Amino acid sequence: MSAPVLQVADLRTYFHTADEPLRAVDGVSFSLERGTTLGIVGESGCGKSITCLSILRLIDRPGRVEPESSIKLGDRDLMELSEAQMRAVRGNEISMIFQEPMTSLNPVWTIGDQIAEAVRLHRGVGRAAARQRAAEMLGLVGIPKPEGRLNDYPHEFSGGMRQRAMIAMALACDPDVLLADEPTTALDVTIQAEILDLLASLQDRLGMAIVFVSHDLGVVAQIADRVIVMYAGQIVEQGDTGRVFSQPRHPYTEGLLRSIPRVTGKAARLTAIAGSVPSARRWPRGCRFHPRCPHAWERCREEPPLLLAADATSRCWLEEEPQRRAVREEAGP
Ligand code: SF4
Repeated sequence: MSAPVLQVADLRTYFHTADEPLRAVDGVSFSLERGTTLGIVGESGCGKSITCLSILRLIDRPGRVEPESSIKLGDRDLMELSEAQMRAVRGNEISMIFQEPMTSLNPVWTIGDQIAEAVRLHRGVGRAAARQRAAEMLGLVGIPKPEGRLNDYPHEFSGGMRQRAMIAMALACDPDVLLADEPTTALDVTIQAEILDLLASLQDRLGMAIVFVSHDLGVVAQIADRVIVMYAGQIVEQGDTGRVFSQPRHPYTEGLLRSIPRVTGKAARLTAIAGSVPSARRWPRGCRFHPRCPHAWERCREEPPLLLAADATSRCWLEEEPQRRAVREEAGP
């Protein structure tokens, strides 16, 4: 296996308010190899998007990526770079795409000028070469007759085309890492499938690593090699996508999977996870999932570490006391 292109270790992003700090991301670690995709799943508010923004060091005050965090791109620790050095990383070595393309696209600039500007800024090439690169990228993401669309404004593109243009802009400088934050959530199902296929084929051609954030487990199952499940600012389970989805270890992952609608031909009841995501202002003591967990017992008042579970990790005491799972199953609902 090749050396990781991105290594995140003990990432902590806290928002310092007058009361206790709000621990939005609380000790997250993972690594990512070139040409692979890591999915990050979890309910809203679990810290997925803040993890991506923290990697780019785009956290505004009162938020802060805590100094003990390490974010290594190759052998450089991004935590040690100045803001000017980080500007040279963003959009160049690490790019980000969002659910809403207009977060990235400026409505008063043409699509061609926006992509070309990113290329000129980071690659120092002339205007003609940058526009040529913009047309090449639009072609690569499947915009027909790309030269003729360079002078279009974002409102002249459909939603799916805007998403493609945003991907073209993000990949124009050939980044090592693409952070994709719910990039298909706002699209209808057919366009969503097209964008997922496009990302997979671009990854085959260009070799970038992708961090793909979504609350939609079905989408992550299609695109990710490995998956991280986040809950309350922490990783609760991590492993190969096929294994996590077929044999989940953590009760939260089991709950997420039970809440996905399936096409079975029969009417099936969906089981929502009881309760709601707690506030980052005060995560529950001990295991943060315990107020919602059907297996919780006294030991869960202590916070479990990430425990090795076969070929995965799970933040759950059931890994040390597996007989507890059977006790609960025998007791019934
Ligand atoms: Fe449930 Fe306890 Fe495991 Fe937490 S540690 S997920 S409360 S069984």
